[in-house]
Amino acid sequence: MKISEELQEAINDQINFELYSGYIYLAMAAYFESINLDGMAHWMKKQAAEEYSHAMRFWEHIVDRGGLVTLTQIKAPKKKWASALAAWEDAYEHEKVVSERIFKIGELADKLDDRSARPLLQWFYDEQVEEEEQTMRVADHLRMAGEHAGAIMMIDAKLGQRE
Ligand code: FE
Ligand code: CA
Repeated sequence: MKISEELQEAINDQINFELYSGYIYLAMAAYFESINLDGMAHWMKKQAAEEYSHAMRFWEHIVDRGGLVTLTQIKAPKKKWASALAAWEDAYEHEKVVSERIFKIGELADKLDDRSARPLLQWFYDEQVEEEEQTMRVADHLRMAGEHAGAIMMIDAKLGQRE
């Protein structure tokens, strides 16, 4: 079924937001590098690449259904955070916003009785559980670590192993 204008607009908007997410994570990578947390920087660069793949997943859905992908300006992300913990808390808050946005697209697809979009959206519902869990977990661990440099270095080393 050809995609409706309304759903196409919502998904195009989400393509922009996924790219914006990637931009935020690149900004976090730059910040982590500036404070010598190279493992966290590595994790964020991988995440930025994943956000690009999320954008492309939505992109392909529009194309496969005879629609038109439209790109718009991407907002500039923050440049600095007060601490590594503050950055991870921001990442977690951001992923909660992403989840809400995807639920809204799901509500629209339901309203339009668009069944073709369901598998795509279901994939994203599952993905968002992972995205929230990962960022929440790191923020929790950093809160536990407090000011202990050794503990922070251990968390950093583990995040540096992301494939
Ligand atoms: Fe995403
Ligand atoms: Ca993921």
